[in-house]
Amino acid sequence: MKIFFTIHPSLIMLLLLDFGGTKLSAALARSGAKTWLAQRRFFTPANADGSCEYAKMLELAKSLLAEAGESAATIGVSFGGPVDAERGVVRLSHHVPGWENIPLADWLQSEFDAPAAIGNDANVAALGEFCFGAGQGCRNLLYVTVSTGIGGGWILDGRPYAGEEGMAGEIGHTLVQPDGLPCVCGRRGCLEAEACGPGIANRARLYLAKSGRRGERLLQLAEGNPEAITAKLVSQAAAAGDEFSRMVLLESAQRLGLGLANAINLMNPDCVILGGGVTKSGELWWQTVRQTANANTLPEISAHIIPAAFSDDAPLWGAMALAQNILV
Ligand SMILES: [Zn+2]
Repeated sequence: MKIFFTIHPSLIMLLLLDFGGTKLSAALARSGAKTWLAQRRFFTPANADGSCEYAKMLELAKSLLAEAGESAATIGVSFGGPVDAERGVVRLSHHVPGWENIPLADWLQSEFDAPAAIGNDANVAALGEFCFGAGQGCRNLLYVTVSTGIGGGWILDGRPYAGEEGMAGEIGHTLVQPDGLPCVCGRRGCLEAEACGPGIANRARLYLAKSGRRGERLLQLAEGNPEAITAKLVSQAAAAGDEFSRMVLLESAQRLGLGLANAINLMNPDCVILGGGVTKSGELWWQTVRQTANANTLPEISAHIIPAAFSDDAPLWGAMALAQNILV
């Protein structure tokens, strides 16, 4: 059995790629290093397709390698969608068309003459936090990103756990509120719909429509346009003492706490790491998530719920672990 994620002591060049939902990132790092040598990002236009994203990523990676005057020894890749990590195949992207059944690892290997390993972004981010971030020293951890959606990844017994279909950690589509808010998956009351950024904004709009004059302060921040409400505005208004926004934020945080408690009771991790933009919603949000999770977790279980060490870069750090593991 392979020993996972030993830091390789040599100075071999690693190419790290992150195909996110809205942006592409490429970085170069030496094996065993704690920082990138170079990093470059590109925000993908709304009409981009898979071939356009792939071509742009090649351009980013090749420009970095050309400037460094070196070639990559191995390649680690995080992809924002379901992947078959063992075969190195992307199954699809939920955001960008044209990624259906793409043998990405083989393509990259041919392009750069170096072996490539790929993984789903939430699973890879879990690995990044485990190897280099807030999860160092943990043995069983759940990583959850709370941003425009909610995804998760597991490390169990010190190893990544992707599940039979590579879909383990999809906590965003576990049910926390029967007949709750509509979810992108077609059902209602999923954790993602109830607690992600757009979910918080949706809850605010729903309550505004019902509550007449309440929520005026939040509407002011949104310049009178309910469609302009975002989770960030809700947390800003809540921090300024707006009771309506506090209630919206609190309810969303409670749903997340409930979803985490279900996962904690099921798997007994020692640590739950939360990343993503919504985790910047302030102390009320964190307190409520922790209190609700604790109140719904068996008393014999004590999982620590802590913030991620990396914000946007967790998938790249996980890609570094993947690229290093090829060397083991
Ligand atoms: Zn769903």
